[in-house]
Amino acid sequence: MAVHMADRIRDVGVTIFSEMSALAAKHGAVNLGQGFPDFPGPALVKDAAARAIAADHNQYAPTNGLPAFQQAAAAEWERRYGRAVDPAREVTVTSGATEALLVAVLAYVQPGDEVILLEPYYDSYPVQVRLAGGVPVFVRLGMPGFTLDVERIAAAVTPRTRAIMLNTPANPCGRVFTEQELRALAALACQRDLLVISDEVYDRLVFAPHRHLPIAMLPGMWDRTITIHSTGKTFSVTGWKIGYALAAPPLTDGFRRVHQFCTFTTATPLQAGIVEGLRAGADYERVFLAEYAARRDLLVDILRRAGFGVDAPEGTYFVMADYRGFRGMNDLAFCRWLTTEVGVAAIPPSAFFHDGHPCGMVRFCFAKKDETLRAAGERFAARLPRLG
Ligand code: PMP
Ligand code: GLN
Repeated sequence: MAVHMADRIRDVGVTIFSEMSALAAKHGAVNLGQGFPDFPGPALVKDAAARAIAADHNQYAPTNGLPAFQQAAAAEWERRYGRAVDPAREVTVTSGATEALLVAVLAYVQPGDEVILLEPYYDSYPVQVRLAGGVPVFVRLGMPGFTLDVERIAAAVTPRTRAIMLNTPANPCGRVFTEQELRALAALACQRDLLVISDEVYDRLVFAPHRHLPIAMLPGMWDRTITIHSTGKTFSVTGWKIGYALAAPPLTDGFRRVHQFCTFTTATPLQAGIVEGLRAGADYERVFLAEYAARRDLLVDILRRAGFGVDAPEGTYFVMADYRGFRGMNDLAFCRWLTTEVGVAAIPPSAFFHDGHPCGMVRFCFAKKDETLRAAGERFAARLPRLG
């Protein structure tokens, strides 16, 4: 048969995460590339999921999620941000944040609509916009410091602009956008009647003194924001692929029309496991964050000692490191070289710019055991010669 791929996927390649993880495995490299923890998730959620399987909660869950999940997610939002959420009408469980992002775009982007993406963006966004027939419009964050330059965003808005995809805390750059930045963006969204698809999958990974503010909480935003979560990060079970979306009922309506024909529902016993995690609330959060702050400090120290230029990230489990003291090559070549010759894998952020812009940095992940991070440090010390 002659294979005719749809035009909308002709330029889609393999993700940089798959590529770098495969290269790391092939060369036995310490994998600080793809973002996933190499330590176990909490017994609390694993035991609850195992109990649910044993108790035969193994058939389809309701399409919008287990009611207990919707209630636990709503209660968490209220605890953290002080706003009541209607579990049945405003929370929809999805198969990871990736599904939620695609569903949001398919539900609200018409063919030909423009969607503003802030660079560096998470790599799925432009492909997801194109799958909906939308046109990504790229606006770079301000440099240095990856600031939200709302004047530049405003200049990119046209009568065709339908939505802005926001990510805070931001992957890969580690920014947690400030209230001032978010208020300016919210004012623009209200003024130009734009939808905001807000990817907040790292909402628990915010280091003091920074604070996460969901843009949906700002005046005029609840009715125009779809907020997306991923429990894989919060409960160190990325392979479970349990996410959820929060939105006002009219926005949730369109979202659910697509969701039911995308995956219909999400793994029942795994939802049951996450319910216990969500219920653990502030007690879990405190320990989780303290452990991550220590890992962040350890990796920042290791990278600085090795000679990288590093600012500690405000949020997420990623660090951006300036590598230009080592090699004059582009970031992809540097990451390949670092993986094969030094034995440590990282991610080249040019994969998060539409034109492959080289920002002179590479991204390392610190969702790793101390011994993994130290093993990377030993390899840097033994095999990473500085230039000149
Ligand atoms: N958004 C961002 C910013 C991410 O880093 C990730 C990755 N893990 C996702 C979405 C996807 O999350 P999930 O694994 O729940 O689909
Ligand atoms: N979000 C993870 C990262 O940024 C990877 C997820 C994936 O491989 N799709 O590394």
